[in-house]
Amino acid sequence: MKHRNFKTVPRMIFGRGSFDQLDDVLMEERQNADDYVVFLVDEVHKDKPLKDRIPNQSHDLVIWLDVTDEPKTTYVDALTEQVQAFGNGKDPVSVVGIGGGSSMDIAKAVALLLTNPGGAVKYQGWDLIQNPAIHHIGIPTISGTGAEASRTTVLTGPDKKLGMNSDYTVFDQIIMDPDLVAGVPKDQWFYTGMDCYIHNVEALNGTYINEFARAFGEKSSDLCDEVFLKDHPEADEKLMMASYMGGQSIAYSQVGACHALSYGLAYVLGYHHGIGNCIVFNVLDDFYPEGVKIFRQMMEKHNINLPTGICQDLSDEQMDKMIQVASGLAPLWDNVYGPNWKEKVTPELLRSLYLKM
Ligand code: NAD
Ligand code: ZN
Repeated sequence: MKHRNFKTVPRMIFGRGSFDQLDDVLMEERQNADDYVVFLVDEVHKDKPLKDRIPNQSHDLVIWLDVTDEPKTTYVDALTEQVQAFGNGKDPVSVVGIGGGSSMDIAKAVALLLTNPGGAVKYQGWDLIQNPAIHHIGIPTISGTGAEASRTTVLTGPDKKLGMNSDYTVFDQIIMDPDLVAGVPKDQWFYTGMDCYIHNVEALNGTYINEFARAFGEKSSDLCDEVFLKDHPEADEKLMMASYMGGQSIAYSQVGACHALSYGLAYVLGYHHGIGNCIVFNVLDDFYPEGVKIFRQMMEKHNINLPTGICQDLSDEQMDKMIQVASGLAPLWDNVYGPNWKEKVTPELLRSLYLKM
């Protein structure tokens, strides 16, 4: 058996106010007078105080990101071209992504595509990236996805939602500043936070589990309990660390049934990752009985109401596509059932689950 040679984020800063150290970090990258930095920032921050704290110099490029839809290959291709046009043949010395999973993934993708030509679609998959990325930094402003820790950037392309997975995808630096999550709307806080909670349940109950992934997954799970069941006064700090540790856990194991089904929902109905996962998880009693029970307590505590009946009026074609997307995620089902998963993951099973949502 060959064990995974796991690439992690080499440098990280954690703590309230640590965003202000971004300038110092970038100064290490700026060597020449014409070196420039690209800031890719969730446009929700355009009218917030964070805007005035971004350490951009006069010759840097700041782009406000539209994250109405989850990142598409066409969008990251267009942003890459925008950066190339701005640089006029010269690459930036760093690409900084500030926002949620969407913005951080966009930053990873642009940093990769600047040095790997031909457009994002070409690299959706595992280890297709040939060249090291431009130096890139991730700064979460909402916690849960673990995108700050992972070796993927999830993109929706013309025929699939699939990440560009590679060692080069991993951020060179992350800054985790709990101050930055102030102002996240309650429902979104819950949905993105539950992404983390679900990562842990799926990792800890999967066949891929090992002591490395368990160590991170269990701690992350405990932190989620403190945040979502106990209203801990340091909930922002705790959820930020839970997100990072959940990301570490799944990086050395795998997610499971919820993520597979949620990818189908996202692809056909456009549900965003966090809420999509919650809708799916709520019908997975047979897969994760204890996890679903606690999830419902968390929903009740925070007055979360999920949409229902969302697959009732789907055409056969739409349902077939969702089933195709969900059943195509082989490693996830392998993690759920083991190598004979194909006998278990039938179209009938997936259809019956979708019809419960
Ligand atoms: P998101 O980045 O789409 O942000 C959700 C919403 O929160 C947006 O409207 C955003 O503007 C808003 N927001 C963010 N920070 C805010 C703040 N401080 N104040 C107010 N509003 C704020 O959502 P997400 O759940 O963080 O990320 C989902 C995306 O991450 C999906 O595209 C998913 O595929 C991807 N993802 C990636 C990985 C990975 O490992 N790369 C893992 C899981 C999910
Ligand atoms: Zn997830």
